[in-house]
Amino acid sequence: MRVVTVPCLSDNFAYLIIDGGRAVVVDPSEAAPIEELLPKENVTLAAIWLTHHHWDHVGGVEELVKKYPGIDVVISKIDAEKLKADTRKCVTKLVEEGDRVALANIVAHVIHNPGHTLGAVSYHIPDHPVGSGSVFTGDTLFAAGCGRVFEGDPAMMYASLLKLADLPDRTKVYFGHEYTVANLKFAAAAEPDNGAVKAWQARLHQPSTPSTISEERAVNPFIRAGSAEEFARRREWKNTFK
Ligand SMILES: [Zn+2]
Repeated sequence: MRVVTVPCLSDNFAYLIIDGGRAVVVDPSEAAPIEELLPKENVTLAAIWLTHHHWDHVGGVEELVKKYPGIDVVISKIDAEKLKADTRKCVTKLVEEGDRVALANIVAHVIHNPGHTLGAVSYHIPDHPVGSGSVFTGDTLFAAGCGRVFEGDPAMMYASLLKLADLPDRTKVYFGHEYTVANLKFAAAAEPDNGAVKAWQARLHQPSTPSTISEERAVNPFIRAGSAEEFARRREWKNTFK
């Protein structure tokens, strides 16, 4: 398995997950960059896996399905309801916590992580080979940050982040936006004495994806909040932090 990062729009990431000659695309916010990349990578598109219903994660779905008819389109049951009708018609599989989706030998476990949206999911591909698991987190977990709590409440989002933080240390985290510079700046304000934040700032390059679960445990001020109340306070603070 290999993963190719596809920058989209101004700061979004879509990802190609490739096994042999076939690929899944995670969160295609637009179709053109994906269509350009497929022949370059010498792969055909087999499926679209969506982390949540927001336009800047699903915007390319209709065009991709028109161009590659018959591909699978996966989203949670809950978020499917919020898609616009023409996009919803493209969906072929509704998932929830514990479901599995596959591309040939690659099997992803669906983790329901509500908070940013009520039906937000991550796709976790366990070790393959051992020690190199991956998780595609959309707008729930970012490098050194997290998405805004739009549909759930802070306790729900905090529980979702802790669930992701429980994945094995070396799991690579493929997140939905390049917000890492601003997130690290906030992390440094939230925990001025955390040396791991400064170390990450010093080695930061762009694109910054993927991070790892152990980096998130060491640096992410939302995972490190310690309680749902502290999480809520930090999330509120970050909403207006410059
Ligand atoms: Zn979103």
